[in-house]
Amino acid sequence: MAGNRQALTAMQAGLASCHVCGKLQSCKADHHCVRCGSRLYQRKPFSVQRSWAFLITALILYVPANLYPIMNTTSLGVKDEKTIIGGVILLWSMKSYPVAVIIFTASIVIPLLKFLVISLLLFSIWKGHSGKLNQQTRLFRIIEYIGPWSMIDVFVVILLVALIQFGGIATVLPGSAAMAFAGMVITTMLSAISFDTRLLWDSE
Ligand SMILES: [Zn+2]
Repeated sequence: MAGNRQALTAMQAGLASCHVCGKLQSCKADHHCVRCGSRLYQRKPFSVQRSWAFLITALILYVPANLYPIMNTTSLGVKDEKTIIGGVILLWSMKSYPVAVIIFTASIVIPLLKFLVISLLLFSIWKGHSGKLNQQTRLFRIIEYIGPWSMIDVFVVILLVALIQFGGIATVLPGSAAMAFAGMVITTMLSAISFDTRLLWDSE
């Protein structure tokens, strides 16, 4: 970054931009935006702590989300329980390769990737030295963008439930893992939202 190092940052100048409407204005403690009235702060309060707390919750939820059945089917009196990975294997064996790949990516790979990236960024703030700031910020934007897409798995279950119920041959109910999975997606998203990328740049 070839910027002028002597230049005053907005924070040093006592300025902050509104998170809602983007207006740059002088920021005193407990101030509200002069344009839209929302709370004004230079950095999200307790950003790192909140982000860690949500991330750890998500990590804990990841375990039951994968160990317990995501759906319970009863077909002609025969009960069947499927975990996420069990469902992926079933879909693969039914030659539904694209669906199997989508579910595997959305519910196993992406959550792990997100855990990895968020903890990496949190660690680099904690250690105080941030190497490739542009890259780290871009990485975070990607995570932020794909966040809601993890919910695809929950939607697949809902869709399957609706489809099979409609057919009337079998009953499908979301398994105990569905709640854990939804909770994991939400807490990971909250962890990303709590994270203030500007903290990465503060160490510069
Ligand atoms: Zn505003």
